[in-house]
Amino acid sequence: MPDCRWPGFGYNSRMSDSSSTAPSALSAIRNRIARAAAAAGRPVDGITLVAVSKTFGADVISPVIAEGQRVFGENRVQEAKGKWPELCAQHRGIELHLIGPLQTNKVRDALHLFDVIHTLDRPRLAQVLADEIGRSGRTPGLFVQVNTGAEPQKAGVSVEGLPAFLDLCRETHRLPVQGLMCIPPVHEQAGPHFALLSELARRYGLAKLSMGMSGDFEDAIAHGATHVRVGSAIFGAR
Ligand SMILES: *Cc1c(COP(=O)(O)O)cnc(C)c1O
Repeated sequence: MPDCRWPGFGYNSRMSDSSSTAPSALSAIRNRIARAAAAAGRPVDGITLVAVSKTFGADVISPVIAEGQRVFGENRVQEAKGKWPELCAQHRGIELHLIGPLQTNKVRDALHLFDVIHTLDRPRLAQVLADEIGRSGRTPGLFVQVNTGAEPQKAGVSVEGLPAFLDLCRETHRLPVQGLMCIPPVHEQAGPHFALLSELARRYGLAKLSMGMSGDFEDAIAHGATHVRVGSAIFGAR
């Protein structure tokens, strides 16, 4: 099991949770997720809220942990390494998700810190991940990022390249790919991209879908998202 407690930080079993009385942004998002799930006829426990805490420090993150949130997303390994080991030592059961690009020279650190990686997107990374998983014995949850909008500047496997890439990951490297992830183009309707990702996951036998951000997570849930990545709607503007 990956575990974001970095060596050198002791485990602190003291529970620091406390409930606050003011209705929070987090509880508003939880309510919206529950309503979107109900509208889609889906059980709410099939949807994981990944609270995207990138750029925010422990002072902003701690109150959200105190409200009971345990699943957090970060987009940079280095930044996560700077703030999460201590937070993980202070709070039980934190689960960290990497949602940003992963360089091969950061794979070792990433496997130490993150329970789930949403951005597996190229053969070299698959190779290095497989090697490091073998070496460390830590196996993260894995999503393959798909560039559904075929944007040249954006990470992700092309839709056409997906079957061969999944074969490489699953057959050659024995990587336990669980799902697909996408970031739709900013200036397009997200719905068709969510529908496409959902169809691809069905076609290739993958159960999980990481899609939907602050502006469109309800739409993503309607299209079958199992993981919504919500940052600014919880933590405020970056
Ligand atoms: C920052 C980020 C998010 C969260 O975006 P918000 O609009 O703040 O909710 C989700 N996914 C990825 C990949 C991100 O980089």
